[in-house]
Amino acid sequence: MTFVPEGIFFELSGGLYMSRYIDKIKGVMMGHVVADALGVPVEFSDRYELDRNPVTKMMGYGTYNVPEGSWSDDSSMAIASLDSLCSGRVDFDDMMERFCAWFKKGEYTPHGVVFDIGNTCAFAIDNYYGGKRPATRCGDEGEYSNGNGSVMRMHPLVLYAYAKNLPSDEWIELVAQCSCLTHAHERSEIGCGIYSFILMRLLESADVESVYRGLGEAKEFYSNYAEVKHYSRLFDGSFKELKRHEIKSSGYVVDSLEAAVWCLLNSDSYSECVLKAVNLGGDTDTVAAIAGSLAGALYGYEAIPEEWLSVIKRRDYLEDMCVRAAEAWI
Ligand SMILES: [Mg+2]
Repeated sequence: MTFVPEGIFFELSGGLYMSRYIDKIKGVMMGHVVADALGVPVEFSDRYELDRNPVTKMMGYGTYNVPEGSWSDDSSMAIASLDSLCSGRVDFDDMMERFCAWFKKGEYTPHGVVFDIGNTCAFAIDNYYGGKRPATRCGDEGEYSNGNGSVMRMHPLVLYAYAKNLPSDEWIELVAQCSCLTHAHERSEIGCGIYSFILMRLLESADVESVYRGLGEAKEFYSNYAEVKHYSRLFDGSFKELKRHEIKSSGYVVDSLEAAVWCLLNSDSYSECVLKAVNLGGDTDTVAAIAGSLAGALYGYEAIPEEWLSVIKRRDYLEDMCVRAAEAWI
């Protein structure tokens, strides 16, 4: 038996733990970015149009006339959030400052230019930028402001909470506050919460059972919230069996979350999941990005096709930030 000094052993096991953790962050973050970029060229496409000419690979141009591998607002806001959390703490003012830097100066973009933003996010950022309200009071509280713009950027906070091993009550409250930066209606907060329960359980255990465990916990946690009724189909044991035509893929938070979870449950690989999401049509980039973050957690970073990763704009910048996050949190 070889004698291994204790210090070296700890260094080795610590190093292994760190590399596994970096892979989890990269799986979720890059799973999201890649899916966003797959959806960008066909955003707003009709489902029947995509049935005739489905997306099967990374493409450029189309809806926004940007080259292949270009990610959109979904990823920009998520990356801005991750960059903020790299400080090692949750600071919603700092996060909003970074959203402003994105929207006003083109930071956190693939080409230095903002080419899309949702109305509700623009409204909230303008509220903050104009000094009108504190960060967590900037989001629109209206019922008709329940787009998918807060769910699409919630994964960095869940990754942080997972790394920090925060108690459930604490991270659920942070998720609600984080939604309120842009989307302050209870329906959006619950959408973010359901998504976060699923992602948290997938980070703990990367198997399909974790999706159902997360859904079950969310159902219980939000049982006294009036708005949870809008998500009742997700909690129905037969949700997976719904037919494709019963799944909407609009930018409405309930539709987007349902579509993403349905694609996750009805796929066997990262690629199948995100292409299925894109080809539903409608809000293709965001539905795919939400699905892609969950699929990245379920199947792992190594399951994301290299031919897609290799064309992602600023890939090194994005992946270096994932490493920086892990080093700041662990
Ligand atoms: Mg977008």
